[in-house]
Amino acid sequence: MPETASCASQATSDSRVILQVDHLSKQYKGGFQALDEVNLEIRRGEIFALLGPNGAGKTTLIGVICGLVNATTGHVLVDGHDNVSEFRQARQRIGLVPQELTSEAFSKVWDTVSFSRGLFGKPPNPEHIERVLRSLSLWEKRNNRLITLSGGMKRRVLIAKALSHEPDILFLDEPSAGVDVELRRDMWAVVRGLRDRGVTIILTTHYIEEAEEMADRIGVIRGGKLMLVEDKHTLMSKLGTKVLTLRLVTPLKALPASLSGFDLSLSTDGLSMDYGYRSAPQQDGEDTGSNSSQGGDTQSSIANLLAALAANGIEISDMDTRQSSLEDIFISLVKEQP
Ligand code: ATP
Repeated sequence: MPETASCASQATSDSRVILQVDHLSKQYKGGFQALDEVNLEIRRGEIFALLGPNGAGKTTLIGVICGLVNATTGHVLVDGHDNVSEFRQARQRIGLVPQELTSEAFSKVWDTVSFSRGLFGKPPNPEHIERVLRSLSLWEKRNNRLITLSGGMKRRVLIAKALSHEPDILFLDEPSAGVDVELRRDMWAVVRGLRDRGVTIILTTHYIEEAEEMADRIGVIRGGKLMLVEDKHTLMSKLGTKVLTLRLVTPLKALPASLSGFDLSLSTDGLSMDYGYRSAPQQDGEDTGSNSSQGGDTQSSIANLLAALAANGIEISDMDTRQSSLEDIFISLVKEQP
């Protein structure tokens, strides 16, 4: 049964749920509906990626959860605490990593991270700050002014600031926007490390590769509506398609009419054809094998295709298959909506 965006319609006593967003809507002054009845449950210890095109409502949703933006209707529970009536308790459990450092260019790393902890009314805890800085490979730079740090180090300072008050949930807004590939991988390793230490991670991203690489579950938001929330592997096996490319010995001018029952497309040079089919359910990225009925269907449809090609005298020189990526799935999901 697919897990849909309506799964969190009532307050839950499920201790595995750390964040509950319930019928949340936001209409900005002027009437723009940025969030429309969003329901979402985040599980303790997961990495959740919120994907959506520009203007979809991602930042607004994070803003409402963190108490920076007022909701028009609905409510948010952070580890059981209402983020309006119990703001302090709710906010204390959240760390927010924005995209950029705004000021503090001349502050030192240690000072700025310690100061962030103080903002949450927490007593100084140098051991904790040291742990955080060490875990983010910033310990050697603790006495450096921010202005002297590289872009990647500044990003890590933002994470350190967000972790300074020991939050249970960390929001990362576009963690690798504008960073190079190496740094992005570095960032992913840091985020995984945090999750391994029990922090629940919610990230927004435009990089579908990032969601594909990191997330346990994925939410897709568009036009303020949460279109789906799904386990990543389930999403990919449910919505994923495969393409079998067959390379031909002799070029074809057109596909024979007798092959019209197959989802085939001929390349412009006539030397190869693509056959699209639903992929079998997956587990840990691998096909489950021929004992699944869907796998069996797939095999028989390919066998039928090969037999039909042979009957038409079409010889194959080579073949390969490609699994659709999360990006293909995301684009088709976003396109499908009016
Ligand atoms: P991006 O990926 O571009 O950052 P987003 O998914 O984070 O986009 P939001 O920043 O939440 O999207 O914006 C959602 C919509 O709400 C946009 O159309 C935006 O113009 C509008 N919006 C955001 N803030 C305000 C505001 N303060 N007043 C009016 N409209 C706003």
